[in-house]
Amino acid sequence: MKNQYILALDQGTTGSRAFIFDRRGQIISSSYQEFPQYYPQPGWVEHDAEEIWRSCENVVKNAIRAAKISPQMIVAIGITNQRETTVVWDRRTSRPIHRAIVWQCRRTASMCQSPGLKPYAGLIRKKTGLVLDPYFSGTKIQWILDHVRGARVRAQKGELCFGTIDSWLIWKLTGGQSHATDMTNASRTMLFDIRKFQWDEEILKLLKVPAAVLPQVRHSGSVFGKTAAGVAGLPSGIPIAAVMGDQQAALYGQGCFEAGSVKNTYGTGCFLVLNTGQKLIYSQNGLLSTLACDDRGQPVYALEGAVFIAGAVIQWLRDELKVIQKSADSESAIKGLSDTQGVYFVPAFTGLGAPYWNSQARGLICGLTRGANVRHIIRAALESIAYQTKDVFSLLQKESGKNLRQLNVDGGACKNNFLMQFQADILDCRIRRPKTVESTAQGAAFLAGVTAGLWQGKSDLQKLFETERVFHPSMPAAKKNALYAGWQRAVKKSLLP
Ligand code: ADP
Repeated sequence: MKNQYILALDQGTTGSRAFIFDRRGQIISSSYQEFPQYYPQPGWVEHDAEEIWRSCENVVKNAIRAAKISPQMIVAIGITNQRETTVVWDRRTSRPIHRAIVWQCRRTASMCQSPGLKPYAGLIRKKTGLVLDPYFSGTKIQWILDHVRGARVRAQKGELCFGTIDSWLIWKLTGGQSHATDMTNASRTMLFDIRKFQWDEEILKLLKVPAAVLPQVRHSGSVFGKTAAGVAGLPSGIPIAAVMGDQQAALYGQGCFEAGSVKNTYGTGCFLVLNTGQKLIYSQNGLLSTLACDDRGQPVYALEGAVFIAGAVIQWLRDELKVIQKSADSESAIKGLSDTQGVYFVPAFTGLGAPYWNSQARGLICGLTRGANVRHIIRAALESIAYQTKDVFSLLQKESGKNLRQLNVDGGACKNNFLMQFQADILDCRIRRPKTVESTAQGAAFLAGVTAGLWQGKSDLQKLFETERVFHPSMPAAKKNALYAGWQRAVKKSLLP
Protein backbone atom coordinates (compact mmCIF):
# COMPACT_ATOMS: atom_id res chain seq x y z
CA MET A 1 0.00 0.00 0.00
CA LYS A 2 2.73 2.41 0.93
CA ASN A 3 4.59 2.08 -2.31
CA GLN A 4 1.84 3.41 -4.52
CA TYR A 5 2.48 6.48 -6.61
CA ILE A 6 0.67 8.50 -9.22
CA LEU A 7 2.26 9.95 -12.32
CA ALA A 8 0.82 13.27 -13.47
CA LEU A 9 1.72 14.47 -16.93
CA ASP A 10 1.17 18.19 -17.52
CA GLN A 11 1.64 18.89 -21.22
CA GLY A 12 1.74 22.69 -21.63
CA THR A 13 2.17 25.14 -24.50
CA THR A 14 5.89 25.72 -24.05
CA GLY A 15 6.96 22.61 -22.16
CA SER A 16 6.03 19.27 -20.66
CA ARG A 17 6.15 18.43 -16.97
CA ALA A 18 5.90 15.15 -15.12
CA PHE A 19 5.24 14.83 -11.38
CA ILE A 20 5.28 11.88 -9.03
CA PHE A 21 2.69 12.14 -6.24
CA ASP A 22 2.59 9.90 -3.19
CA ARG A 23 -0.47 8.62 -1.32
CA ARG A 24 -0.49 11.67 0.94
CA GLY A 25 -0.95 13.82 -2.13
CA GLN A 26 2.57 15.25 -1.92
CA ILE A 27 4.81 15.86 -4.91
CA ILE A 28 7.98 13.85 -4.44
CA SER A 29 9.65 14.68 -7.74
CA SER A 30 9.14 16.52 -10.99
CA SER A 31 10.84 17.11 -14.30
CA TYR A 32 10.40 19.74 -17.01
CA GLN A 33 11.41 20.01 -20.64
CA GLU A 34 10.72 22.66 -23.25
CA PHE A 35 10.15 21.89 -26.92
CA PRO A 36 10.38 24.02 -30.08
CA GLN A 37 7.68 26.43 -31.23
CA TYR A 38 7.21 26.99 -34.96
CA TYR A 39 5.95 30.23 -36.46
CA PRO A 40 5.65 29.56 -40.20
CA GLN A 41 3.82 32.87 -40.86
CA PRO A 42 2.78 35.88 -38.76
CA GLY A 43 -0.03 34.78 -36.45
CA TRP A 44 0.57 31.07 -37.11
CA VAL A 45 1.81 28.73 -34.35
CA GLU A 46 2.69 25.05 -34.70
CA HIS A 47 4.14 22.23 -32.60
CA ASP A 48 5.66 18.97 -33.74
CA ALA A 49 3.55 16.30 -32.01
CA GLU A 50 6.47 13.85 -32.15
CA GLU A 51 8.65 16.38 -30.32
CA ILE A 52 5.91 16.84 -27.73
CA TRP A 53 5.77 13.09 -27.24
CA ARG A 54 9.56 12.80 -26.89
CA SER A 55 9.57 15.57 -24.27
CA CYS A 56 6.88 13.64 -22.37
CA GLU A 57 8.88 10.41 -22.52
CA ASN A 58 11.92 12.24 -21.16
CA VAL A 59 10.17 13.99 -18.27
CA VAL A 60 8.40 10.79 -17.25
CA LYS A 61 11.70 8.90 -17.11
CA ASN A 62 13.46 11.75 -15.30
CA ALA A 63 10.71 12.23 -12.73
CA ILE A 64 10.69 8.51 -11.92
CA ARG A 65 14.47 8.50 -11.61
CA ALA A 66 14.43 11.57 -9.36
CA ALA A 67 11.73 10.02 -7.16
CA LYS A 68 13.94 6.95 -6.69
CA ILE A 69 10.99 4.64 -7.17
CA SER A 70 10.53 1.71 -9.47
CA PRO A 71 8.11 2.31 -12.37
CA GLN A 72 6.13 -0.72 -11.13
CA MET A 73 5.07 1.37 -8.13
CA ILE A 74 3.02 3.70 -10.33
CA VAL A 75 -0.60 2.69 -10.00
CA ALA A 76 -2.26 5.32 -12.17
CA ILE A 77 -1.51 8.10 -14.65
CA GLY A 78 -3.30 11.45 -14.85
CA ILE A 79 -3.00 13.62 -17.96
CA THR A 80 -3.62 17.34 -18.21
CA ASN A 81 -2.83 19.34 -21.30
CA GLN A 82 -2.80 22.54 -23.32
CA ARG A 83 -6.29 22.64 -24.75
CA GLU A 84 -7.61 23.01 -28.32
CA THR A 85 -4.25 22.28 -30.01
CA THR A 86 -5.02 19.94 -32.89
CA VAL A 87 -3.20 16.83 -34.09
CA VAL A 88 -4.18 14.59 -37.01
CA TRP A 89 -2.27 11.33 -37.38
CA ASP A 90 -2.22 8.15 -39.43
CA ARG A 91 -4.02 5.35 -37.60
CA ARG A 92 -1.70 2.68 -39.02
CA THR A 93 1.73 4.31 -38.66
CA SER A 94 0.91 6.69 -35.77
CA ARG A 95 2.66 9.45 -37.75
CA PRO A 96 1.11 12.94 -37.65
CA ILE A 97 0.19 14.05 -41.18
CA HIS A 98 0.90 17.73 -40.37
CA ARG A 99 2.39 19.75 -37.53
CA ALA A 100 -0.03 20.28 -34.67
CA ILE A 101 -1.93 23.58 -34.96
CA VAL A 102 -1.64 25.35 -31.61
CA TRP A 103 -4.55 27.06 -29.83
CA GLN A 104 -2.91 30.46 -30.35
CA CYS A 105 -2.79 30.04 -34.14
CA ARG A 106 -5.01 32.46 -36.06
CA ARG A 107 -4.74 30.85 -39.52
CA THR A 108 -8.43 29.94 -39.66
CA ALA A 109 -9.70 33.46 -38.88
CA SER A 110 -11.06 33.92 -42.41
CA MET A 111 -12.83 30.54 -42.26
CA CYS A 112 -14.68 31.71 -39.16
CA GLN A 113 -15.75 34.86 -41.04
CA SER A 114 -16.84 32.99 -44.17
CA PRO A 115 -20.48 32.92 -45.33
CA GLY A 116 -20.45 29.13 -44.92
CA LEU A 117 -19.81 29.40 -41.21
CA LYS A 118 -20.50 32.86 -39.82
CA PRO A 119 -24.31 32.61 -39.99
CA TYR A 120 -24.06 29.56 -37.71
CA ALA A 121 -22.28 31.34 -34.86
CA GLY A 122 -25.50 31.33 -32.79
CA LEU A 123 -26.10 27.64 -33.32
CA ILE A 124 -22.49 26.83 -32.46
CA ARG A 125 -22.75 28.90 -29.32
CA LYS A 126 -25.93 27.20 -28.21
CA LYS A 127 -24.58 23.70 -28.73
CA THR A 128 -20.94 24.06 -27.73
CA GLY A 129 -20.97 27.05 -25.34
CA LEU A 130 -18.15 28.59 -27.40
CA VAL A 131 -17.84 31.59 -29.65
CA LEU A 132 -17.03 30.87 -33.29
CA ASP A 133 -13.30 31.52 -33.24
CA PRO A 134 -10.01 30.11 -34.64
CA TYR A 135 -8.96 29.45 -31.02
CA PHE A 136 -10.93 26.17 -30.93
CA SER A 137 -10.06 22.90 -32.70
CA GLY A 138 -12.95 22.66 -35.21
CA THR A 139 -11.62 24.88 -37.99
CA LYS A 140 -8.06 23.71 -37.33
CA ILE A 141 -9.05 20.12 -38.25
CA GLN A 142 -10.84 21.42 -41.31
CA TRP A 143 -7.70 23.31 -42.32
CA ILE A 144 -5.48 20.21 -42.04
CA LEU A 145 -7.94 18.07 -44.02
CA ASP A 146 -8.11 20.79 -46.68
CA HIS A 147 -4.35 21.32 -46.99
CA VAL A 148 -2.79 17.85 -46.76
CA ARG A 149 -3.16 16.01 -50.06
CA GLY A 150 -5.66 13.18 -49.92
CA ALA A 151 -6.38 13.74 -46.24
CA ARG A 152 -10.12 14.21 -46.47
CA VAL A 153 -10.67 10.99 -48.42
CA ARG A 154 -8.42 9.09 -46.04
CA ALA A 155 -10.27 10.63 -43.09
CA GLN A 156 -13.58 9.42 -44.49
CA LYS A 157 -12.16 5.93 -44.85
CA GLY A 158 -11.21 5.93 -41.17
CA GLU A 159 -7.47 5.93 -41.86
CA LEU A 160 -6.79 9.09 -39.85
CA CYS A 161 -7.27 10.06 -36.21
CA PHE A 162 -7.92 13.54 -34.86
CA GLY A 163 -7.09 14.38 -31.30
CA THR A 164 -6.30 17.20 -28.94
CA ILE A 165 -2.99 16.66 -27.12
CA ASP A 166 -4.57 14.41 -24.48
CA SER A 167 -5.75 11.99 -27.19
CA TRP A 168 -2.33 12.00 -28.80
CA LEU A 169 -0.66 11.15 -25.48
CA ILE A 170 -3.24 8.42 -24.71
CA TRP A 171 -2.59 6.96 -28.16
CA LYS A 172 1.19 6.96 -27.64
CA LEU A 173 1.08 5.67 -24.06
CA THR A 174 -1.20 2.78 -25.01
CA GLY A 175 0.78 1.89 -28.11
CA GLY A 176 -2.13 2.85 -30.38
CA GLN A 177 -4.68 0.79 -28.47
CA SER A 178 -6.89 3.68 -27.41
CA HIS A 179 -8.23 6.64 -29.39
CA ALA A 180 -10.05 8.56 -26.70
CA THR A 181 -10.53 11.97 -25.09
CA ASP A 182 -12.34 13.35 -22.06
CA MET A 183 -15.31 15.69 -21.90
CA THR A 184 -13.38 18.77 -20.79
CA ASN A 185 -11.11 18.56 -23.82
CA ALA A 186 -13.99 17.61 -26.13
CA SER A 187 -15.84 20.73 -24.94
CA ARG A 188 -13.06 22.87 -26.46
CA THR A 189 -13.20 21.42 -29.95
CA MET A 190 -16.32 23.35 -31.05
CA LEU A 191 -17.69 20.00 -32.27
CA PHE A 192 -19.15 18.74 -28.99
CA ASP A 193 -22.70 19.35 -27.81
CA ILE A 194 -22.30 20.13 -24.12
CA ARG A 195 -26.03 19.71 -23.50
CA LYS A 196 -26.16 16.15 -24.86
CA PHE A 197 -22.53 15.19 -24.13
CA GLN A 198 -21.89 13.97 -27.65
CA TRP A 199 -20.26 14.99 -30.93
CA ASP A 200 -22.68 17.07 -32.96
CA GLU A 201 -23.45 15.83 -36.47
CA GLU A 202 -24.72 19.18 -37.72
CA ILE A 203 -21.51 20.99 -36.77
CA LEU A 204 -19.38 18.14 -38.13
CA LYS A 205 -21.15 18.61 -41.45
CA LEU A 206 -20.68 22.39 -41.38
CA LEU A 207 -16.96 21.97 -40.78
CA LYS A 208 -16.68 18.98 -43.13
CA VAL A 209 -15.13 16.83 -40.42
CA PRO A 210 -15.85 13.10 -40.94
CA ALA A 211 -17.01 11.39 -37.75
CA ALA A 212 -14.54 8.57 -38.43
CA VAL A 213 -11.61 10.74 -37.26
CA LEU A 214 -13.07 11.48 -33.84
CA PRO A 215 -11.89 9.96 -30.57
CA GLN A 216 -14.28 8.22 -28.20
CA VAL A 217 -15.35 10.59 -25.42
CA ARG A 218 -15.29 9.47 -21.79
CA HIS A 219 -15.82 11.05 -18.39
CA SER A 220 -12.64 12.65 -17.07
CA GLY A 221 -12.37 10.09 -14.29
CA SER A 222 -12.47 6.93 -16.45
CA VAL A 223 -9.85 4.47 -17.57
CA PHE A 224 -8.75 5.71 -20.98
CA GLY A 225 -6.48 2.76 -21.68
CA LYS A 226 -3.44 1.06 -20.21
CA THR A 227 0.24 1.55 -20.94
CA ALA A 228 1.89 -0.66 -23.51
CA ALA A 229 5.05 -2.39 -22.28
CA GLY A 230 8.19 -0.27 -22.39
CA VAL A 231 6.56 2.99 -23.47
CA ALA A 232 8.32 5.92 -21.69
CA GLY A 233 10.11 3.33 -19.55
CA LEU A 234 6.82 2.19 -18.00
CA PRO A 235 5.65 -1.38 -17.50
CA SER A 236 2.51 -2.55 -19.28
CA GLY A 237 -0.94 -2.23 -17.77
CA ILE A 238 -0.80 1.06 -15.84
CA PRO A 239 -4.22 2.69 -16.25
CA ILE A 240 -4.56 6.22 -17.58
CA ALA A 241 -7.17 7.08 -14.98
CA ALA A 242 -7.78 10.82 -15.42
CA VAL A 243 -7.74 13.29 -18.29
CA MET A 244 -8.60 16.99 -18.07
CA GLY A 245 -7.77 20.15 -19.97
CA ASP A 246 -5.34 22.37 -18.03
CA GLN A 247 -7.80 24.98 -16.72
CA GLN A 248 -10.31 22.34 -15.65
CA ALA A 249 -7.53 20.35 -13.98
CA ALA A 250 -6.51 23.48 -12.05
CA LEU A 251 -10.12 23.93 -10.94
CA TYR A 252 -10.15 20.34 -9.72
CA GLY A 253 -6.72 20.68 -8.13
CA GLN A 254 -8.04 23.65 -6.16
CA GLY A 255 -10.87 21.52 -4.78
CA CYS A 256 -13.54 23.53 -6.60
CA PHE A 257 -16.04 20.67 -6.83
CA GLU A 258 -19.16 22.62 -5.88
CA ALA A 259 -21.24 25.11 -7.82
CA GLY A 260 -20.05 28.61 -6.87
CA SER A 261 -16.41 27.69 -6.34
CA VAL A 262 -13.96 29.63 -8.49
CA LYS A 263 -10.25 29.77 -9.22
CA ASN A 264 -7.91 32.21 -10.92
CA THR A 265 -4.56 31.23 -12.40
CA TYR A 266 -2.14 34.17 -12.50
CA GLY A 267 0.28 33.29 -15.29
CA THR A 268 1.24 35.22 -18.41
CA GLY A 269 -2.49 35.90 -18.62
CA CYS A 270 -5.18 35.09 -16.08
CA PHE A 271 -7.71 32.29 -16.40
CA LEU A 272 -10.78 32.45 -14.20
CA VAL A 273 -13.07 29.41 -14.08
CA LEU A 274 -16.29 29.19 -12.07
CA ASN A 275 -18.01 25.86 -11.40
CA THR A 276 -21.73 26.36 -12.12
CA GLY A 277 -22.72 22.77 -11.28
CA GLN A 278 -25.63 21.31 -13.24
CA LYS A 279 -26.54 24.71 -14.63
CA LEU A 280 -25.42 25.59 -18.16
CA ILE A 281 -25.20 29.37 -18.20
CA TYR A 282 -24.79 31.32 -21.43
CA SER A 283 -22.89 34.53 -20.90
CA GLN A 284 -24.18 37.82 -22.28
CA ASN A 285 -20.66 39.27 -22.21
CA GLY A 286 -18.48 36.84 -24.10
CA LEU A 287 -17.50 34.44 -21.31
CA LEU A 288 -17.31 30.82 -22.45
CA SER A 289 -19.50 28.00 -21.20
CA THR A 290 -17.53 24.81 -20.90
CA LEU A 291 -17.34 21.44 -19.17
CA ALA A 292 -15.42 20.79 -15.94
CA CYS A 293 -15.70 17.92 -13.44
CA ASP A 294 -17.01 17.13 -10.02
CA ASP A 295 -14.89 15.20 -7.53
CA ARG A 296 -15.50 11.89 -9.33
CA GLY A 297 -14.76 13.30 -12.76
CA GLN A 298 -18.40 13.49 -13.86
CA PRO A 299 -19.20 16.50 -16.03
CA VAL A 300 -20.38 19.78 -14.54
CA TYR A 301 -20.73 23.15 -16.25
CA ALA A 302 -18.34 26.03 -15.85
CA LEU A 303 -18.00 29.62 -16.97
CA GLU A 304 -14.58 30.75 -18.10
CA GLY A 305 -13.06 34.17 -18.63
CA ALA A 306 -9.54 35.27 -19.44
CA VAL A 307 -7.32 38.31 -18.98
CA PHE A 308 -4.87 38.54 -21.88
CA ILE A 309 -2.04 40.40 -20.15
CA ALA A 310 -1.42 39.68 -16.46
CA GLY A 311 2.04 38.43 -15.41
CA ALA A 312 3.13 39.56 -18.88
CA VAL A 313 2.92 43.21 -17.77
CA ILE A 314 5.53 42.39 -15.10
CA GLN A 315 7.70 40.75 -17.77
CA TRP A 316 7.32 43.95 -19.78
CA LEU A 317 8.62 46.03 -16.86
CA ARG A 318 11.53 43.61 -16.63
CA ASP A 319 12.40 43.15 -20.32
CA GLU A 320 11.36 46.39 -22.02
CA LEU A 321 11.49 49.12 -19.34
CA LYS A 322 14.21 47.20 -17.47
CA VAL A 323 13.15 48.66 -14.13
CA ILE A 324 13.24 45.31 -12.31
CA GLN A 325 15.59 42.36 -12.73
CA LYS A 326 13.18 39.55 -12.02
CA SER A 327 9.41 39.35 -11.68
CA ALA A 328 9.54 38.83 -7.92
CA ASP A 329 11.34 42.21 -7.56
CA SER A 330 8.04 43.90 -8.39
CA GLU A 331 7.01 43.25 -4.79
CA SER A 332 10.14 44.45 -2.99
CA ALA A 333 10.46 47.50 -5.26
CA ILE A 334 7.22 49.01 -3.98
CA LYS A 335 7.62 48.24 -0.28
CA GLY A 336 6.44 51.12 1.86
CA LEU A 337 4.54 52.79 -0.97
CA SER A 338 0.96 53.41 0.13
CA ASP A 339 -0.59 54.07 -3.28
CA THR A 340 0.18 54.94 -6.90
CA GLN A 341 -0.55 58.66 -6.40
CA GLY A 342 -3.31 58.35 -8.98
CA VAL A 343 -1.26 56.55 -11.62
CA TYR A 344 -3.07 53.85 -13.63
CA PHE A 345 -1.53 51.38 -16.05
CA VAL A 346 -3.86 49.72 -18.57
CA PRO A 347 -1.80 46.93 -20.20
CA ALA A 348 -4.03 46.58 -23.26
CA PHE A 349 -1.05 45.43 -25.35
CA THR A 350 -3.19 43.12 -27.48
CA GLY A 351 -6.58 44.74 -27.02
CA LEU A 352 -8.96 44.03 -24.17
CA GLY A 353 -11.16 40.99 -23.58
CA ALA A 354 -14.23 40.59 -21.38
CA PRO A 355 -16.16 42.72 -20.61
CA TYR A 356 -14.76 45.31 -23.05
CA TRP A 357 -14.05 43.17 -26.14
CA ASN A 358 -12.07 45.84 -27.90
CA SER A 359 -9.28 44.47 -30.06
CA GLN A 360 -8.19 47.99 -31.05
CA ALA A 361 -7.46 49.07 -27.46
CA ARG A 362 -3.79 49.76 -26.70
CA GLY A 363 -1.85 50.12 -23.46
CA LEU A 364 -1.45 53.37 -21.55
CA ILE A 365 -0.06 54.79 -18.33
CA CYS A 366 -2.04 57.80 -17.13
CA GLY A 367 -2.58 60.05 -14.13
CA LEU A 368 1.09 61.07 -14.02
CA THR A 369 2.03 64.06 -11.85
CA ARG A 370 5.40 65.70 -11.09
CA GLY A 371 5.88 63.44 -8.05
CA ALA A 372 5.23 60.17 -9.90
CA ASN A 373 8.17 57.81 -10.25
CA VAL A 374 8.97 54.35 -11.46
CA ARG A 375 7.77 52.73 -8.24
CA HIS A 376 4.30 54.15 -8.79
CA ILE A 377 4.34 52.68 -12.27
CA ILE A 378 5.38 49.26 -10.96
CA ARG A 379 2.63 49.36 -8.38
CA ALA A 380 0.11 50.46 -11.01
CA ALA A 381 1.17 47.50 -13.18
CA LEU A 382 0.52 45.05 -10.33
CA GLU A 383 -2.77 46.74 -9.53
CA SER A 384 -3.81 46.37 -13.18
CA ILE A 385 -3.70 42.57 -12.77
CA ALA A 386 -6.10 42.86 -9.84
CA TYR A 387 -8.42 45.31 -11.63
CA GLN A 388 -8.62 43.16 -14.76
CA THR A 389 -9.36 40.15 -12.59
CA LYS A 390 -12.16 42.13 -10.96
CA ASP A 391 -13.59 42.99 -14.38
CA VAL A 392 -14.00 39.27 -15.14
CA PHE A 393 -14.86 38.23 -11.58
CA SER A 394 -17.74 40.71 -11.50
CA LEU A 395 -19.11 39.21 -14.71
CA LEU A 396 -18.87 35.69 -13.29
CA GLN A 397 -20.70 36.88 -10.22
CA LYS A 398 -23.38 38.69 -12.18
CA GLU A 399 -24.03 36.01 -14.79
CA SER A 400 -24.08 33.11 -12.35
CA GLY A 401 -26.16 35.00 -9.80
CA LYS A 402 -23.82 33.58 -7.15
CA ASN A 403 -22.31 35.49 -4.30
CA LEU A 404 -18.68 34.42 -4.65
CA ARG A 405 -17.09 34.27 -1.22
CA GLN A 406 -13.64 32.93 -1.96
CA LEU A 407 -11.20 33.06 -4.86
CA ASN A 408 -8.69 30.19 -5.05
CA VAL A 409 -5.44 31.28 -6.66
CA ASP A 410 -2.47 29.65 -8.36
CA GLY A 411 0.07 30.41 -11.12
CA GLY A 412 3.42 32.23 -10.98
CA ALA A 413 2.22 35.70 -10.00
CA CYS A 414 0.06 34.51 -7.08
CA LYS A 415 3.28 34.37 -5.06
CA ASN A 416 3.19 38.16 -4.93
CA ASN A 417 1.75 39.01 -1.48
CA PHE A 418 1.10 42.63 -2.32
CA LEU A 419 -0.91 41.61 -5.37
CA MET A 420 -2.95 39.05 -3.43
CA GLN A 421 -3.82 41.49 -0.63
CA PHE A 422 -4.75 44.19 -3.12
CA GLN A 423 -6.82 41.62 -5.01
CA ALA A 424 -8.73 40.66 -1.85
CA ASP A 425 -9.36 44.36 -1.16
CA ILE A 426 -10.54 45.23 -4.65
CA LEU A 427 -12.78 42.16 -4.94
CA ASP A 428 -13.93 42.44 -1.34
CA CYS A 429 -13.51 38.68 -1.27
CA ARG A 430 -11.32 36.20 0.60
CA ILE A 431 -8.32 34.86 -1.34
CA ARG A 432 -7.07 31.34 -0.62
CA ARG A 433 -3.55 30.45 -1.70
CA PRO A 434 -2.79 26.71 -1.48
CA LYS A 435 0.57 25.26 -0.46
CA THR A 436 0.93 23.54 -3.81
CA VAL A 437 0.49 26.12 -6.53
CA GLU A 438 0.89 23.28 -9.07
CA SER A 439 -2.91 22.99 -9.11
CA THR A 440 -3.00 21.68 -12.67
CA ALA A 441 -0.81 18.64 -12.01
CA GLN A 442 -2.44 18.14 -8.65
CA GLY A 443 -5.87 18.01 -10.28
CA ALA A 444 -4.78 15.34 -12.76
CA ALA A 445 -3.05 13.31 -10.04
CA PHE A 446 -5.91 13.54 -7.55
CA LEU A 447 -8.59 12.53 -10.03
CA ALA A 448 -6.40 9.63 -11.24
CA GLY A 449 -6.10 8.57 -7.59
CA VAL A 450 -9.87 8.71 -7.15
CA THR A 451 -10.48 6.63 -10.29
CA ALA A 452 -7.84 4.12 -9.20
CA GLY A 453 -9.47 3.82 -5.76
CA LEU A 454 -6.64 5.38 -3.71
CA TRP A 455 -9.03 8.04 -2.47
CA GLN A 456 -12.79 7.97 -2.15
CA GLY A 457 -13.60 11.33 -3.72
CA LYS A 458 -14.29 14.58 -1.91
CA SER A 459 -14.13 13.40 1.68
CA ASP A 460 -10.61 12.00 1.28
CA LEU A 461 -9.36 14.72 -1.04
CA GLN A 462 -10.40 17.50 1.30
CA LYS A 463 -7.83 16.21 3.78
CA LEU A 464 -5.10 16.52 1.16
CA PHE A 465 -5.69 20.17 0.23
CA GLU A 466 -3.40 22.43 2.21
CA THR A 467 -3.82 26.17 2.49
CA GLU A 468 -0.69 28.25 2.66
CA ARG A 469 -2.29 31.62 3.32
CA VAL A 470 -5.63 33.39 3.29
CA PHE A 471 -5.88 37.09 2.40
CA HIS A 472 -8.85 38.89 3.90
CA PRO A 473 -10.27 42.10 2.43
CA SER A 474 -9.57 45.08 4.68
CA MET A 475 -9.97 48.19 2.51
CA PRO A 476 -12.83 50.58 3.32
CA ALA A 477 -15.57 50.36 0.70
CA ALA A 478 -15.35 54.04 -0.25
CA LYS A 479 -11.65 53.77 -1.04
CA LYS A 480 -12.07 50.56 -3.00
CA ASN A 481 -14.90 52.03 -5.05
CA ALA A 482 -12.96 55.20 -5.80
CA LEU A 483 -9.91 53.22 -6.93
CA TYR A 484 -11.97 50.98 -9.18
CA ALA A 485 -13.84 53.94 -10.67
CA GLY A 486 -10.43 55.41 -11.54
CA TRP A 487 -9.51 52.16 -13.28
CA GLN A 488 -12.68 52.24 -15.35
CA ARG A 489 -11.96 55.83 -16.42
CA ALA A 490 -8.44 54.79 -17.44
CA VAL A 491 -9.76 51.82 -19.43
CA LYS A 492 -12.10 54.17 -21.33
CA LYS A 493 -9.08 56.18 -22.44
CA SER A 494 -7.39 53.05 -23.79
CA LEU A 495 -10.34 52.07 -25.99
CA LEU A 496 -9.59 53.38 -29.45
CA PRO A 497 -12.59 54.01 -31.67
P1 ADP B 1 2.72 30.62 -17.60
O1 ADP B 1 2.27 29.25 -17.17
O2 ADP B 1 1.67 31.45 -18.25
O3 ADP B 1 4.02 30.63 -18.36
P2 ADP B 1 3.50 31.01 -14.80
O4 ADP B 1 2.39 30.47 -13.98
O5 ADP B 1 4.79 30.27 -14.85
O6 ADP B 1 3.01 31.42 -16.25
O7 ADP B 1 3.80 32.48 -14.23
C1 ADP B 1 4.72 33.33 -14.82
C2 ADP B 1 4.22 34.75 -14.87
O8 ADP B 1 4.05 35.23 -13.54
C3 ADP B 1 5.19 35.66 -15.56
O9 ADP B 1 4.45 36.51 -16.42
C4 ADP B 1 5.82 36.47 -14.44
O10 ADP B 1 6.09 37.79 -14.84
C5 ADP B 1 4.77 36.45 -13.36
N1 ADP B 1 5.35 36.41 -12.00
C6 ADP B 1 6.09 35.43 -11.46
N2 ADP B 1 6.44 35.72 -10.18
C7 ADP B 1 5.89 36.93 -9.91
C8 ADP B 1 5.87 37.79 -8.75
N3 ADP B 1 6.46 37.43 -7.61
N4 ADP B 1 5.19 38.95 -8.85
C9 ADP B 1 4.55 39.30 -9.98
N5 ADP B 1 4.54 38.53 -11.10
C10 ADP B 1 5.21 37.37 -11.07
